[in-house]
Amino acid sequence: MSGKTVLVTGGAGFLGSHLCDRLVEGEAQVICVDNLQTGRLDNISHLMQRRGFRFIRHDVTDRLGIDGPIDEIYNLACPASPPQYERDPIHTFRTSVLGAMNLLDLAEAKGARILQASTSEVYGDPALSPQSETYWGNVNMIGPRACYDEGKRGAETLFHLYREDRGVDIRVARIFNTYGPRMRPDDGRVVSNFIVQALAGTPLTVFGSGRQTRSFCYVDDLVDGLVRLMASPATVKGPVNLGNPGEFTVLALAELVLAKTGSRSKVAFRTLPGDDPRRRRPDIALAERVLGWGPTVPLEEGLDRTIPYFAEVMHQNVAGV
Ligand code: NAD
Ligand code: UDP
Repeated sequence: MSGKTVLVTGGAGFLGSHLCDRLVEGEAQVICVDNLQTGRLDNISHLMQRRGFRFIRHDVTDRLGIDGPIDEIYNLACPASPPQYERDPIHTFRTSVLGAMNLLDLAEAKGARILQASTSEVYGDPALSPQSETYWGNVNMIGPRACYDEGKRGAETLFHLYREDRGVDIRVARIFNTYGPRMRPDDGRVVSNFIVQALAGTPLTVFGSGRQTRSFCYVDDLVDGLVRLMASPATVKGPVNLGNPGEFTVLALAELVLAKTGSRSKVAFRTLPGDDPRRRRPDIALAERVLGWGPTVPLEEGLDRTIPYFAEVMHQNVAGV
């Protein structure tokens, strides 16, 4: 990785900022591109003074001109939390599809390898579990999540076409629910919501019965998978699932967060949003085989690493720091 120039879109976001850290540690020259829609400069402020790190505020729906060589592009730009991506669904769709096209054009022009941050959402409300890469999914193309799910599916199609028709060197990661420090307290995803609610002593909002499942991956494991996928040989042609196969009901997650925080918060049941997938669990046999990758941090341990981050942020907010 040393000496490479690497462009990271969405680099001021949750996953992107951890990826930037990892790349800077590996002595890459990192160009971080973000429109700060859900990302924050706080996530990368510690990198701003580092040699070889550059931040460009830019929306990927507009074409991006960069002088000089680029070796690798990680395309992470896109809000990932349902309430965030549903706020301006047309812009979310444009970000996924136009953003992908603009970055694929840039990759082609620079001769760069490009990795797409796709998602388990391409499987929709899956009829099969666990989900492997060969499953085509079950997505409502006009439902509330469609702007994200279909946008990401369209982006995968574009990546495939640019490889087939133009020889662009692509990699595609299908990322399953990932959590950790630097998620925004108001992000709206389940892990951050539950931790913030438990620490604030307010009820944990469980949507529906809480019997729907998710499989939660700690951020460091996920970033390791992304870097390995980028470094993998061109024979890794199709999408690769990255996630932690440990499957939990949402209710079990709530109970674990209450136990870990020692909170006396109650659980409050709320209406289940439309098209909420009933179960989700990655089959990671392909990643294990072609990347030698698997998660190392179980949920209990990942929560132990994440809860202090939110406690600190909430303390600073109360103190007005
Ligand atoms: P995030 O919301 O914290 O980060 C997204 C980043 O992209 C933010 O910094 C945001 O400002 C930026 N962005 C959004 N639209 C943009 C645009 N049009 N132009 C430039 N920048 C833009 O979310 P995250 O969890 O860090 O997710 C990062 C990527 O990984 C996303 O593409 C998401 O779809 C994918 N992903 C994440 C997860 C997960 O569980 N975290 C799961 C599946 C896929
Ligand atoms: N969820 C919940 N309470 C919340 C936020 C989310 O019960 O405060 C549920 C949500 O309905 C879904 C699961 O938790 O079933 C995961 O939601 P998240 O938004 O984190 O990710 P996604 O649905 O995109 O997997």
